[in-house]
Order: sequence, then structure tokens, then C-alpha cells
Amino acid sequence: MKLTKTQREEIRMKYGGRCAYCGCELGQRWHADHLIPIRRSERNMREYNGNLVRDAWGKIKTEKYIINPEADCIDNMMPSCASCNILKNSLPLESFRSVISGFITSLNRDINQYKISKRYGLVQETGIEVKFYFETYESK
Ligand SMILES: [Zn+2]
Repeated sequence: MKLTKTQREEIRMKYGGRCAYCGCELGQRWHADHLIPIRRSERNMREYNGNLVRDAWGKIKTEKYIINPEADCIDNMMPSCASCNILKNSLPLESFRSVISGFITSLNRDINQYKISKRYGLVQETGIEVKFYFETYESK
């Protein structure tokens, strides 16, 4: 949905001007993320009588639409830094949490500098669960 300046400001201030996910302070280029992802699809266009709409070459015209339009509302929008929004993409919250939790596994498997840094005590794993900023913000 197209947001007005007032609506964008309302979303930005939902968690004190911070990213709902990581809690960093939002800069100028923050994103309005859909907590419950918008699911998009495409369908054939039809006339009022049900006939398919075709272009000048006879090809059936299609239109994009939102499968769950109820999720495209202000209450479902979260202020997000660009980095979190791009990573979350169209993932539901628990899948996003799993992706972040899995980073430690990838670091230990793939990144030699990380493994060495850990051995030298430069990096310590805490084993904590991924908590999003808005989850702790709401309990304050
Ligand atoms: Zn963030």
C-alpha cells in the first residue's frame, strides 16, 4: 500500500525510531516491512462477462495481485533497517529467526577467520536465542 508521510512517521516511531528486528537506530533510508509477508501472484485478466482479455496479438493478458490483502495494512507494518528488511525478504517471522540462528552454523562451517578468532577468544558464542527488538520492547 502507498503510505502517506504521516503513516510512515507513525510506523517509524512504533519502536522509538529503531528497527523492529535488530533495534538499530533508523536512518534516513529505512523500510516499512510487512510482519506477515504479502504474498503476490499473477492471474489471467477477465472481462466482466468472464472472457479472457487478450492483447493485439491474441496473447492472454495477466495481472499481478495480492493473495492476502488483509496483511497490507498499517498494523502489519514494521519499521525496519534496510539490512533486516532485505534479509527477511518475504519470510514469516519464525523463518527469519531460523535464518539468523543458522548464521553461527555457517560461520563455524565456512569461515576460517571466524573459527580462528573463536580459538583466540576474540569471539565468544553466547548460545542465546534470537530475540527481535520489538519482542523485548513490548515487554518493557
Ligand atoms: Zn535491523
